[in-house]
Amino acid sequence: MPSSDPSSGWVMNIQNFSVNDGDGIRTTIFLAGCAMRCPWCANPEGGSLRNPMTKLMSVDEVVSQVLRQLPFLRVSGGGVTFSGGEPTFQTGFLRALAGPLYDAGVGLAIETCGTFSYLDVADVLAKMDQIFMDFKHPDPAAHLRWTGRPLDLVLENLRHVRESGADYVVRIPVIAGVNADSETITRMLDILADACPSAKLEFLPYHKLGFAKYEALGKPTPAGFETPADADLAEYQKMAVQRGLEPISYR
Ligand code: SF4
Repeated sequence: MPSSDPSSGWVMNIQNFSVNDGDGIRTTIFLAGCAMRCPWCANPEGGSLRNPMTKLMSVDEVVSQVLRQLPFLRVSGGGVTFSGGEPTFQTGFLRALAGPLYDAGVGLAIETCGTFSYLDVADVLAKMDQIFMDFKHPDPAAHLRWTGRPLDLVLENLRHVRESGADYVVRIPVIAGVNADSETITRMLDILADACPSAKLEFLPYHKLGFAKYEALGKPTPAGFETPADADLAEYQKMAVQRGLEPISYR
């Protein structure tokens, strides 16, 4: 369980000069812990708070490290992105970090799998300039089987985020062996076109860059998942546009 003391928390990494996690140059804070258990996860060290690849850090340590980057963040129109793992898993720590950064005028974004209690995190999400929320599978049983968490909660939180008026992007991790087929993507896009018309949408093709981390942790690398073909991704983009969604890319 996350620490009840929000003045410190478990951090996987703080990555400066990131350009894939929102606008401009960003410092991405990877917070450990996640309620999902996706077998293709690229950040296996995020599945538990405490492991050889995570570090207990105080709010002051993290904030002062980020503020050293402030000139780069400001000049590029960037900011800080909270990622993970699942950043809301350590809600108290996330809130304690977001407060002083927000007060310092740092633009904030969050990447979330959508599994959280909205009431518990609404105040933190309100500080974010942009919310990136994953949508992994359209079938409730398959979603539960693949991730260990219910689809309903993700869709309910997507509705909350849309209704809050936040700037948000839905992200579909496209994984051959899980959801990268025309029928599944069609169902996902139909759900999105209905639940959040005109939403911005980013397709994230599966990659194997996290394999070295599995080896470092002594875990077997994910098997049975592949990167989708470029032609398939192009087709999915077209299908999204046909449904009034707005494909974007930060890659
Ligand atoms: S939600 Fe993301 S961080 Fe969590 S297990 Fe799935 S892929 Fe990994």
